[in-house]
Amino acid sequence: MSDGSIRKKIGFIGLGIMGKSMARHLMKAGHAVSVFSRTRSRCEDFIAEGATWQDSVAGAAVGADMIITMVGLPSDVEQVYFGEAGLLSAAEPGTILIDMSTSRPDLAVRIHAEAAGRGLRALDAPVSGGDAGARDGTLSIMVGGDRSDFEAAVPVLAHMGTSIVHLGPAGSGQHCKMANQIAIAGAMLGVAEALAYTLRAGTLRAGLDPTEVLKAIGGGAASSHALHAMWPKMVREDFSPGFLVEHFIKDMTIAQDESRSMGLDLEGLTLVRSLYEALRDKGFGRSGTQALFRHYTP
Ligand code: NAP
Repeated sequence: MSDGSIRKKIGFIGLGIMGKSMARHLMKAGHAVSVFSRTRSRCEDFIAEGATWQDSVAGAAVGADMIITMVGLPSDVEQVYFGEAGLLSAAEPGTILIDMSTSRPDLAVRIHAEAAGRGLRALDAPVSGGDAGARDGTLSIMVGGDRSDFEAAVPVLAHMGTSIVHLGPAGSGQHCKMANQIAIAGAMLGVAEALAYTLRAGTLRAGLDPTEVLKAIGGGAASSHALHAMWPKMVREDFSPGFLVEHFIKDMTIAQDESRSMGLDLEGLTLVRSLYEALRDKGFGRSGTQALFRHYTP
């Protein structure tokens, strides 16, 4: 191992925009990684790079020290863990199961409880940092679960992220991710509206130059990851994903359900969710979240 750590046998399930990059870091670090994802044809490039393909969730679990899941929706997480030949029945006692998908906190609690009853160790470890963070290995990783399991997982998580924080018991990582998504919802709206204003705000009504505006405001109080990552894409009307609109709606729905159950009414979140749902209904569900700018263009 290049970093002196112990070589692990790792199962990795879910090779989409995020999962491929994350699994690639583990392979490059020298771990033995077995991969499975729902649609093999989307993974041929990754298999050609040398990834060891398995034909099922259970196949990826055989002999694994650790199994990482990076699937899309809570229903996908549920299927991978609780489904027939799912991880909870297929993984060998002692295995650490790490769900890095963004999912429901109560589902993370259920997985943890069921895992504990079977001698398995489960962590919820959703991430922030987007496709670029996954590619660069600079994700922020928010972890819920037992402290000792967190500590055992850190050397592996460190190949994928630069900030790795243990928030508390099972579900805490997902709650932290919801806080992250609530903050991002407001940030995305701010960036889209600032750009819409910029393009119409010239003294001759020809608009300001958006590149110059980014230069001017990007180092000031308006600076944010959303501003720097999304503004140029919105200017180019490049709506390729990134982070899928339908996944952001999934996250905002979870965040709203959770906040309502706490008696908390998040009006900004409700507004942003409704704008994204309108966008999805216009056919932008599989676009990147920067497509919110479409709401402000004819
Ligand atoms: P994605 O591109 O849709 O990838 C999800 C992958 O999981 C797909 O390859 C999918 O297969 C596979 N999958 C789904 N259900 C499965 C199952 N039952 N068994 C095996 N594989 C299954 O999504 P992503 O952008 O990588 O995001 C993954 C998760 O991370 C989501 O929860 C998302 O909210 C979260 N996230 C995303 C970002 C981002 O910027 N993209 C950032 C932070 C967090 P198919 O190819 O058949 O669809």
